[in-house]
Amino acid sequence: MLTKTDKTHASEFPGGGEELMPRTEQHKGLSQEEPLLFETGSLETTGVDLREPEGVQDGLGDLKREGPIGLPGLSEPQALRHYVRLSQKNYAIDLGLYPLGSCTMKHNPRLNEKMARLPGFADIHPLQPQKTVQGALELIDQLGHWLTELTGMSAVAMSPRAGAHGELCGMLAIRAALENKGSDKRVVLVPESAHGTNPATAIQCGYEVRSIACDQKGRVDLSDFRDKLDADVAAIMITNPNTCGMFEQDIATIASEIHACGGFVYCDGANFNAIVGKVRPGDLGVDAMHINLHKTFSTPHGGGGPGSGPVVLSQALAPYAPLPLLIKEEGTYRLIERTNADDVDAFGRIAAFHGQMGMFVRALAYILSHGADGLAQVAEDAVLNANYVLTSLKDVMTPAFRGTCMHEALFDDRFLEGTGVTTLDFAKAMIDRGYHPMTMYFPLIVNGAMLIEPTETESKESLDQFIDTLRSLAIAAKEGDIQQFVDAPVAAPRSRLDETQAARKPILRWTQGAGA
Ligand SMILES: *Cc1c(COP(=O)(O)O)cnc(C)c1O
Repeated sequence: MLTKTDKTHASEFPGGGEELMPRTEQHKGLSQEEPLLFETGSLETTGVDLREPEGVQDGLGDLKREGPIGLPGLSEPQALRHYVRLSQKNYAIDLGLYPLGSCTMKHNPRLNEKMARLPGFADIHPLQPQKTVQGALELIDQLGHWLTELTGMSAVAMSPRAGAHGELCGMLAIRAALENKGSDKRVVLVPESAHGTNPATAIQCGYEVRSIACDQKGRVDLSDFRDKLDADVAAIMITNPNTCGMFEQDIATIASEIHACGGFVYCDGANFNAIVGKVRPGDLGVDAMHINLHKTFSTPHGGGGPGSGPVVLSQALAPYAPLPLLIKEEGTYRLIERTNADDVDAFGRIAAFHGQMGMFVRALAYILSHGADGLAQVAEDAVLNANYVLTSLKDVMTPAFRGTCMHEALFDDRFLEGTGVTTLDFAKAMIDRGYHPMTMYFPLIVNGAMLIEPTETESKESLDQFIDTLRSLAIAAKEGDIQQFVDAPVAAPRSRLDETQAARKPILRWTQGAGA
């Protein structure tokens, strides 16, 4: 355990006020303090030993730089150590259990990585002539085939770069289909438990959001849905299983009632990992759904890594899929990149080029190596693990809803009532015990929500250890042993930060002298 003085770390941020300790005194247990590159390097030195060229005329004319560029000079070891130290401050799925609910932090099989590094996939360029990348195009086509097969849908748009981007793509396709019919529907229904990207997408597409209530069981309230449904409704954006970790069992009814009103069903497919191989969203009446390859199909994410959010489309929406379209003619793959050249109703492009090639390779490797039975087992084990966590903790923590869950266990903060400990304190105390916190305060409809998604890739031993930790923290809180919560985290390089200040006045740019 570290001592109280470690709390001065929090004041290192610009504006913290207090006198700073020399950096070397803050190195602890082989963990190196890491200043910014601008603070490490110096404007006066240079990282390279090249002489100023003599007698060379630069051809830049007016574009010539007038002042110094202001980049610090760094040697190779200085630059290298900076990035290696930063990488060691990252928490990663390769280090331990990563229980963030809704994020699906599952193991990324190394086989996928090996495939993605094959030069024929890794070293190609999107502007290469299509005849030189037929293998890559075939891979995109094959992955698209399996995505439509697994979801029971007619078409797929491969280019969206992430889930939220896929939502935009799907809703633009819905809007294009409605406009094509001359419809002026202007409302999108969004359950109140939805991820924030759903209402944001609807607004971005020019729609008005009408919120639907959640019932006692954590599902869409069917009677509220019926109250809100009218001829103005263009679509519902529904997540299934939803963000409370519950299967929306009325989805087929909801879909047929929306369809009867001339609207569409957008499904947020971020939780597809809980039902893959078991249920086909197309059979439930879904018209468009994004698939987060980086969640369900294990392509790496977190820390800003690349995502990929292909969108599967029903027969009604297939004609409105964005460009490029991938077709096969006489054994050769071809990308249709323009609407004027070919007779298509696409709403345009959603992204430059054709999608995240590296993610496609990993996702297809994952699908093929699991096979149909393996994918169904992924869903079963994800649900089993979440229910194991839920059941093992329900006597000391408070499940937000009764009964079993799908792939994530949702608790609220009733078990902390009267202890003086909040969800935030609880999460910070987990850090001192070596665990990354779960998703907190989401979904918004649950007070002090704690959303835990263990995924299918954790062993029973790892789940037991995690459960023991949460159990002992919950007991400590109830017994009034709250010091370990209010001070937490003490073992992390930084203690509590001023989160309000960080959110309201983020310092995103280094300016000389600000940190000193
Ligand atoms: C992750 C997630 C999204 C957004 O996906 P990104 O790939 O992060 O853009 C949307 N909805 C839900 C329920 C999610 O969990």
